[in-house]
Amino acid sequence: MAQIIDGKKISLEIKDEVKKEVETLAKKSINPCLAVILVGENPASLVYVRNKKKACEYVGIKSLSYELSSGTTEKELLDLIDSLNKNPECNGILVQLPLPKHINEDKVLLSISPEKDVDGFHPFNVGLLSIGNAVLKACTPAGCIELIKRSGIDISGKKCAVLGRSNIVGKPVSMLLTAENATVTLCHSKTKDIINETKNADIIIAAVGKPKFLKGDMISDGAVIIDVGINRMENGKLCGDVNFDECEKKASFITPVPGGVGPMTIAMLMKNCVLACKSQNKI
Ligand code: NAP
Repeated sequence: MAQIIDGKKISLEIKDEVKKEVETLAKKSINPCLAVILVGENPASLVYVRNKKKACEYVGIKSLSYELSSGTTEKELLDLIDSLNKNPECNGILVQLPLPKHINEDKVLLSISPEKDVDGFHPFNVGLLSIGNAVLKACTPAGCIELIKRSGIDISGKKCAVLGRSNIVGKPVSMLLTAENATVTLCHSKTKDIINETKNADIIIAAVGKPKFLKGDMISDGAVIIDVGINRMENGKLCGDVNFDECEKKASFITPVPGGVGPMTIAMLMKNCVLACKSQNKI
């Protein structure tokens, strides 16, 4: 039976580390501050934004909240981001996605100053990630790496299969694993014989957005399974991209959903805010 990786516990450890750093910075009169922008009333986004503000309160990061109506124009949003880019008291800017259809998401993400891009989505930061020099790393992928490392698993030299090649999870996590000296196979919907790739892998990161996609007979004994998927089932329950019951019997380590990767994303966001603040203050 696999050891369950407790994302709630590890994310709390990280938030407590961030809290200590925020206290140390406060002694130098440096107070990290995150601007959280929400456009419209997408119910899931409202929950995410509320959780991000709660995490800021917990670690002592000041949060500036902008809850804009769904009728906000692209120009109004870009003007707000421009003013926050210029505001020295604001260290991080987070625009909750998805945005209403009339607003161009790429244009908005590009408008955020790379040094305040705490989500790590700006092409400048993605570029730094690809050459192994990123300070602000995309939060969910960085959270996956922390889960693995803090469970005492050595990534170096391991064969990793990443399932899914999105810009927000699959691609960045494959770059982070490569930077940790893993040999990575990045799989997607056109990959032929995906079972061959997953069976060969010591570590599998599942981020396809398909409930219970990774079955027990697709993995080898002792594999480490990190489940990024968050799928809402008809009964209202959350389900990952991994068939937990089947894989738990064969894996050495496995993350549950909920309570695995999910809580790590916000913890890494808090970490990024402090990193952004320190870098802007030349610390
Ligand atoms: P996405 O943008 O929809 O990308 C899905 C990826 O999976 C694509 O690369 C797609 O391949 C690949 N794929 C789809 N069907 C496949 C199949 N049958 N075989 C192999 N690959 C397949 O999804 P995402 O944004 O990366 O999110 C993935 C999951 O993670 C979702 O459940 C999402 O809710 C969850 N998520 C969780 C967090 C968190 O905080 N825990 C954060 C972000 C996302 P193609 O490129 O060929 O289409």
